[in-house]
Amino acid sequence: ATPNSGDVRATPGSSRPHVVLLPSAGMGHLVPFTRLAAALCSGHGCDVSLVAAVPTVSSAEARHLAAHFAAFPAVRRLELDLASLDVSEFAGADPFYVRYEAIRRSAPLLAPLLAGGASAAASALVADIALASVVIPVARELRLPCYVFFTASATMFSFLAYLPTYLDANAGGGHAIGDVDVPGVCRVPTSSVPQALHDPDDIFTRQFIANARSLADADGLVVNAFDALEPEAIVALRQGTVAAGLPPVFAVGPLSPAPIPAKDSGSYLPWLDAQPVRSVVYVSFGSRKALPRDQLRELAAGLEASGHRFLWVVKGAVVDRDDAGELTDLLGEAFLRRIHGRGLVTMAWVRQEEVLNHPAVGLFISHCGWNSVTEAAASGVPVVAWPRFADQRVNAGAVARAGIGAWADTWSWEGEEDDGVVSAEDIAGKVRSVMADEGVRKAAASVREAAARAVAAGGRSYRSLAELVRRCRDGL
Ligand code: UDP
Ligand code: UDP
Repeated sequence: ATPNSGDVRATPGSSRPHVVLLPSAGMGHLVPFTRLAAALCSGHGCDVSLVAAVPTVSSAEARHLAAHFAAFPAVRRLELDLASLDVSEFAGADPFYVRYEAIRRSAPLLAPLLAGGASAAASALVADIALASVVIPVARELRLPCYVFFTASATMFSFLAYLPTYLDANAGGGHAIGDVDVPGVCRVPTSSVPQALHDPDDIFTRQFIANARSLADADGLVVNAFDALEPEAIVALRQGTVAAGLPPVFAVGPLSPAPIPAKDSGSYLPWLDAQPVRSVVYVSFGSRKALPRDQLRELAAGLEASGHRFLWVVKGAVVDRDDAGELTDLLGEAFLRRIHGRGLVTMAWVRQEEVLNHPAVGLFISHCGWNSVTEAAASGVPVVAWPRFADQRVNAGAVARAGIGAWADTWSWEGEEDDGVVSAEDIAGKVRSVMADEGVRKAAASVREAAARAVAAGGRSYRSLAELVRRCRDGL
């Protein structure tokens, strides 16, 4: 593609559109962006650039970026040097939310980055939802079409898109967010609203609402979702039931993991190989949250009491770089000795995709980060939902409605007044009942098939992505 003179924009109609991807921070955002990059470049004939803001917050992100660029040399790496940010302004705030803010304030630097020698004329920009309200105006100035990628569920997306209407209608009551009935989708009870949003001054809240109000200005909205998992939300978003004036919605999920060759096989794999089919409970709360110590102990006792085999990934800190804990300190030597052979507990990163697709795995106790949910859905593994934070309760609702798992909505939620510890007995009971639930297993298997159909050539998600690429090519 040849740029117009002094222009970062590619001539519309060029056969190979150049799509620039701009993720925010955290594995939950980076992972779907790299999957989108892989799908665009390998499956849909695009030239792709991925913007990386370095150094990353977590070392998991740094490793993932390195592995991604090594596996996809065709994807161009553009480094965004962040404008300096006085972090004392955000003392105590979530480090990933602070990073969103740093990238947001660096949005004006995108213009020189895209005009610089490392880049090539661009056809379109795809920006992370966390950056939408500041990146859309920059793209407008560069005359680049701007698409917004929502990396969580379509259900959460519908909540976000409806929130401005809700807040405007309830302005008399100040900012307080009660139960929110998202038209055509579901009720999000106040107890499921992301914690931060209850505080109007929270940095996340300010970003979230600004982004929500900017959606109508985007050229299109992309979501890692598919019909079989969230039928109502996708239809309601597309048809304008959720909010009037939204641009076209492209449901392109579940984005498939990019084939990134592994450096080592992971000691958990030989162990899994030795377990019977569907006998293992896989337990993980994602990449960025630790359970409180007393809850960890109770979970340990619950897994032990369930009588099932388990593979448990334990995290001791919010940012992995700070995770200096030892398993014996967290769980006790006696526990580790007792479960030896029947349970495998690790603080290391596991390749979750591989774990969920392993025939030995029969259940996933998950915090319901959206990537984890889509990965469980794509591999047909039933879920015990234990959301703790942010959009996870909304996602857990989608899991329960789709019938692919169970959610005990009385289980603890971070920051709740009675953020009580869920007992070993309750955990063991839930694990046993879902492991024995034929109906959930069948629903999970059928959603897995629907997911495979959606992303296969000619499937709905595949065609949505092809349509998005066509628009990028034509400069729409
Ligand atoms: N993940 C992984 N190994 C781990 C922990 C996490 O591969 O030990 C991956 C997981 O498969 C998912 C991503 O990291 O793709 C986490 O995203 P998710 O949305 O599930 O949760 P978050 O970490 O953002 O809370
Ligand atoms: N559509 C959309 N986003 C999607 C999937 C479909 O906007 O993620 C639109 C599509 O452009 C068409 C309509 O929804 O106007 C029907 O979708 P599709 O072509 O998949 O029809 P079907 O598979 O039901 O025949």
